[in-house]
Amino acid sequence: MEPWDAIIIGGGAAGLSAAQMLGRSRRRTLVVDAGSPRNRFAAHMHGVLGQDGTAPLDLIARGREELAAYGVAWLEASVRRVDEHAAGVAVALDDGSIEHARALVVATGITDELPDVPGLAERWGTSVLHCPYCHGWEVRDRRLGVLLVSPHQMHQAQLLRQWSEDVVVFAAIPLEHAFERRLRARGVEIVTDAVAEVRGDGATLTEVRLENGTVHAVDALFTMGAARPHDDFLAHLGLDRTDTPVGSFLAVDPTGRTSSPRIWAAGNVVNPMANVPLSMGAGAMVGGAVNGALVDEDFANASSM
Ligand SMILES: Cc1cc2nc3c(=O)[nH]c(=O)nc-3n(C[C@H](O)[C@H](O)[C@H](O)COP(=O)(O)OP(=O)(O)OC[C@H]3O[C@@H](n4cnc5c(N)ncnc54)[C@H](O)[C@@H]3O)c2cc1C
Repeated sequence: MEPWDAIIIGGGAAGLSAAQMLGRSRRRTLVVDAGSPRNRFAAHMHGVLGQDGTAPLDLIARGREELAAYGVAWLEASVRRVDEHAAGVAVALDDGSIEHARALVVATGITDELPDVPGLAERWGTSVLHCPYCHGWEVRDRRLGVLLVSPHQMHQAQLLRQWSEDVVVFAAIPLEHAFERRLRARGVEIVTDAVAEVRGDGATLTEVRLENGTVHAVDALFTMGAARPHDDFLAHLGLDRTDTPVGSFLAVDPTGRTSSPRIWAAGNVVNPMANVPLSMGAGAMVGGAVNGALVDEDFANASSM
């Protein structure tokens, strides 16, 4: 069977956006998606111009409808392995089948590995949150907690003060004296005793209980998971990576191209800080870049005949 022009692994904000560019460029495009976008835990999206308050899965459903109009194919499946060959890539799916393409876009996102605190995971995306720009407005002026588990979260602890005067930091790691002074100077309470659990009624949060038995009333708790990129299926290819303070990610150039000439990547899988608009933008850039590379190859092939 003729190979696809492009296969996109991952049908979230980044992958859909890349697929739209490729579909509109009349490229034979296949999206393979396992159906678990990172923000599926949240009922509404914010900070997404024109889509403020839209349910994350509605945005994806709308995107899929738009793609269908351009003939983009969609496969609900999980990719197990990617191999490169002279003319493209071979993508092995979980049902054992293999799809071939001239170019590959990896847009598989990340998993947020949350701190292991009872009551936390089941409230992720409702009353346990990570992104003030996504959810801060909805909890403004409420009693906000920050479960600080990593030095990279210090910024988050400061940020939250912008949304409420009532902020308490539960520091699970030692804080530098100067940083403590900064927080206290703006009225942020600091608690250094270990957190035992978070409690509430269903998805809502009412309190954080410490191991010493003390209870702190809290309406929302911000924290940060460790970002684990979904890229195991190409680890054996040895593509260049970038080591950052928050983990190791596939290295890409400004157009999203990896160190393989046939593999691009976009969205959270390469940038865990990207929100929906940034992931869409990166996907659009990659979609255009892939089409540009294929156009070049079409001309090169034609002129070598
Ligand atoms: C709780 C929560 C709430 C958020 N709220 C907001 C918000 O309000 N506003 C905002 O702008 N951002 C928000 N974000 C951030 C947002 O989720 C990300 O910016 C966005 O999802 C990144 O898009 P992506 O396409 O890179 O990855 P994703 O949306 O995660 O999509 C990746 C897709 O790839 C699929 N996939 C993974 N591995 C494979 C594989 N091997 N084979 C096939 N498919 C695979 C997944 O199933 C998934 O469908 C939130 C994040 C969280 C955790």
